[in-house]
Amino acid sequence: MECWLSGPCIVISPHLDDGVFSCGELIAHMPGTVVATVLAGIPDPSPRVTGWDAAAGFDSAARAVACRRGEDRAALALLRARPRWLDFFDGQYAGSPRWEALVDGLDALLGAEDPHAVLFPAGLRHPDHVLVHRAMLAVRRRRPHGIWLMYEDALYRCLPGLMQLRLLALARQGLVATPVPAAPAGRLGRKRAAVECYRSQLRVLVSHARGYADALAPERYWRIDAAAENRFP
Ligand SMILES: [Zn+2]
Repeated sequence: MECWLSGPCIVISPHLDDGVFSCGELIAHMPGTVVATVLAGIPDPSPRVTGWDAAAGFDSAARAVACRRGEDRAALALLRARPRWLDFFDGQYAGSPRWEALVDGLDALLGAEDPHAVLFPAGLRHPDHVLVHRAMLAVRRRRPHGIWLMYEDALYRCLPGLMQLRLLALARQGLVATPVPAAPAGRLGRKRAAVECYRSQLRVLVSHARGYADALAPERYWRIDAAAENRFP
């Protein structure tokens, strides 16, 4: 089945896994999609290791991110997508990136890739996801043209009320969110194989009550338009 999106797309992923967990089925229908992970910077070598990285089997942050880039490369190869890794740091290492640098960096990324459609996270619960969501809305104000699609962050979207609050916040900013069709059927097997490439993260997630089953549930997308430019009355 043909995908309803045509032309080059870019998926903005907060961490090294979110893009595939949330959009892998759609990405599998769009060869050549760029998956840009925003918080993929490799920290300086340090003996310090975070609780998350230790649970994932790592003994340093630098080795964790380097390994996770490798997992991302393998997953995206299965989906025939292309990775881009920005050098901002994951919040577990260094706190939030400087706001202006983040927005300018994302703006430059879109300028370089010139995508037909931009897919960005709803930004649910995790502070890094919220930050990337807000930064992408700031970039959208600079580049309002083209197709802007918000994806529901896998693993967080099933928590009660989070998507409801996000939609409410968008409405308060004068933005209209319209649901669009999910990915055509037939690529879930490929997505599953891609998800399984993120071995270090699955190792942590399986120990959580909810696991990672939501990453394999149907994906959901919303087209974002300013109220005045909404093309879906
Ligand atoms: Zn994440």
